[in-house]
Amino acid sequence: MNNNPNRKAKHSDFLVVGGGSAGCAVTATLIQAGYTVTLVEAGPDYGAFDSGQWPTDLIDARMIAINSHDWGYKGSRWEFHRAQVIGGCSSHNGCIAAVGHRKDYDSWQLPGWSGNDVAPIYDQVVKAMRVRTYRDDEAGPFHARCLEAAQGVGWRMVSDLCDLDGNDGFGLETVNVYGSTRWNSAFAYLDPIRHLPSLSIVDHVIVNHFQEHENGITLSISRHGQNETLSADHLILSAGVYGTPEILQRSGVGDPDHLKQLGIPIQLAQPKVGLNLHDHPMIHVDRKVGPELQAWLDEATVSGFLPEEQTLGKAISSLAEDNIFDLHLFPVCASDQTSMIHGRVHIEVACMTPKSRGSLRITSKDPNSLSQIEHNYLGDEDGHDTAVLAEGVVLANEILDHPALSEILGEPITDTTSDTYLSDHVAHYYHPVGTCAMGLNNDDVCDEKGRVCGLKRVTVADVSLMPQIPRANTNLPAVMMGIRVGELLLATD
Ligand SMILES: Cc1cc2nc3c(=O)[nH]c(=O)nc-3n(C[C@H](O)[C@H](O)[C@H](O)COP(=O)(O)OP(=O)(O)OC[C@H]3O[C@@H](n4cnc5c(N)ncnc54)[C@H](O)[C@@H]3O)c2cc1C
Repeated sequence: MNNNPNRKAKHSDFLVVGGGSAGCAVTATLIQAGYTVTLVEAGPDYGAFDSGQWPTDLIDARMIAINSHDWGYKGSRWEFHRAQVIGGCSSHNGCIAAVGHRKDYDSWQLPGWSGNDVAPIYDQVVKAMRVRTYRDDEAGPFHARCLEAAQGVGWRMVSDLCDLDGNDGFGLETVNVYGSTRWNSAFAYLDPIRHLPSLSIVDHVIVNHFQEHENGITLSISRHGQNETLSADHLILSAGVYGTPEILQRSGVGDPDHLKQLGIPIQLAQPKVGLNLHDHPMIHVDRKVGPELQAWLDEATVSGFLPEEQTLGKAISSLAEDNIFDLHLFPVCASDQTSMIHGRVHIEVACMTPKSRGSLRITSKDPNSLSQIEHNYLGDEDGHDTAVLAEGVVLANEILDHPALSEILGEPITDTTSDTYLSDHVAHYYHPVGTCAMGLNNDDVCDEKGRVCGLKRVTVADVSLMPQIPRANTNLPAVMMGIRVGELLLATD
């Protein structure tokens, strides 16, 4: 762990808050340009990949690792897991590597963020994150049958699902898995620069709030129960979709009526902080595991590496715009008996172009209090998200009912034909974004360079910036955004 107090710089050119997917990438961009950076992270820093200090669950890529290092966010119905550790959610996520469609970025209509602008950054990110496609011979027994069933019901087979110009199709997943290791953004972006004296990584730091002054930034933190301050010329907030708006609101940057109720002095009235929260709503379609499949799974588990997720389909619903895919279908099958879904298989169905919007509000100025998070899944007025998911459920049942699968699966566990199935069972794809969205209007939270509108020295660099979520799992997009914001910042002055 990087706990050496001699390395803890009290003042640096940049303070980066949050060593997650985007935070590690923006830090590397600034360090490579010759600046001093102090990176503060609430969770532990386990050091470089070859330190041997990383807990097994965080590097084992077979299944998501949400039982440790979690912030504990909750809504009225769902838990909203977020990792509290260096690498952020890239240290515990599902390792699906996706970039969405080129038009996702064009549709933002922001200078510097078109599909053509982000494509070369994605080329670098794919290399650094060691993205690869699972090979046919790595596919476990269930996923091999999923490929056969999808082809059997008419899906187009594709060999690269991580392509800005790719559209619908079914294939083996592209993943940031190196051997059997979840290759997180700390390995990709911090390991090459950890030795440099211009970088200080301070872990176990909870950032409370900041104050902008004429000459810099003061950051109030608590570390091992002690309150301290750090300072820098410029502050980068990479604390993620929930952490970044929380820090802004605790710093008096938010809706003045809300902040006054909590006794927080106003630094900048910015009512949109915490709004525009959205994610890909998701629903599962399940079947029991049959005895033959169970025997194969037991055998395959003993013989090697068998991830829960290995295949993915992208489909175009009748509501899709421009005939570009708006659904993800990804089969999940557990071989490990400790898995949440042991004994059943799922095809998870996600609406990739959600219209529903929610919000995040802090409930107290105490950084240890839980925020009020309202995702409002399926809450869009015209019912778009529900209608897209309903079409996806039909597609998932078609695949599961194909003989390649039906002969090794049992009956459904959940009744997908019930009228209330979608509203009763809707879940999420773990991709919340948008709470500090970029835009070109004065009342937007951030401008097109990620700078908080109305402040001079504070920039956001994480998925909170997204005005609209891309048709992608959001880890690679977060990393891309960290790099892009760093580049735009360096190009400013
Ligand atoms: C269970 C799960 C599975 C997922 N699966 C996939 C997948 O398969 N593929 C994919 O592409 N995406 C996946 N995602 C989504 C993806 O990982 C995230 O969208 C992405 O990592 C977000 O990056 P970020 O940099 O915005 O935030 P994060 O990676 O969350 O980083 C934020 C960092 O800031 C720190 N922080 C927050 N508040 C404070 C504070 N007050 N003080 C100090 N530090 C703070 C946090 O500890 C964290 O390290 C998954 C997410 C989850 C939770």
